[in-house]
Amino acid sequence: MNDKISREKLIEEIKREVENCRKCELHKFRRKPVIGEGNLYAKLMFIGEAPGYWEDIKGRPFVGAAGKLLDELLFSIGVQRSEIYIANILKCRPPKNRDPKPNEVRACTPYLDRQILIIKPKVIVTLGRHSTSYILSKAGLRFKRMTDDHGKIFEVDHFGWNLKIVPTFHPASALYNPRYKSLILKDLKLISKILEEMEI
Ligand code: URA
Ligand code: SF4
Repeated sequence: MNDKISREKLIEEIKREVENCRKCELHKFRRKPVIGEGNLYAKLMFIGEAPGYWEDIKGRPFVGAAGKLLDELLFSIGVQRSEIYIANILKCRPPKNRDPKPNEVRACTPYLDRQILIIKPKVIVTLGRHSTSYILSKAGLRFKRMTDDHGKIFEVDHFGWNLKIVPTFHPASALYNPRYKSLILKDLKLISKILEEMEI
């Protein structure tokens, strides 16, 4: 089987499992789970937190207000959604967009781990503290605070290939505090520089 067919098939398999998943209580509240979407050959992957109101309705990641802001930021660095892959820590929306609970993160992240292994990105941008602390801990690193760690490049081999992890603030935080928007943009500009240097 060639790689194109197998990546699509493997992601399809995850989709089917998630659609039937009842591993945590969030399945009771979801309208549509949000598996993730984008280019299965992306070198750049974004990992957010969990679906919000609009994502739960549409079954697609980052389509609400935070998504619009993310699109605007991506546009500023000349990156299109079709070039990247976007997924979340949780596939189902927590009620009232509350924070993910540790047991939910434990139950759901095996899906994300599989997505990462299928896509094998060279760079992962973690959006917000939940995503950052999960991905850094996978790599054996401790996350302290976003104000200290955003825009840093963590180079790790824990996934089986050389991977750069770059944390930044969640775009939703910039909806409430415009200061974060310029910080995210600064981090994304660094990321586009890294990609250029890697000739991606
Ligand atoms: N916030 C997230 O973290 N993910 C989404 O998909 C939408 C909003
Ligand atoms: Fe399953 Fe994840 Fe949804 Fe919980 S959030 S029900 S673990 S898919």
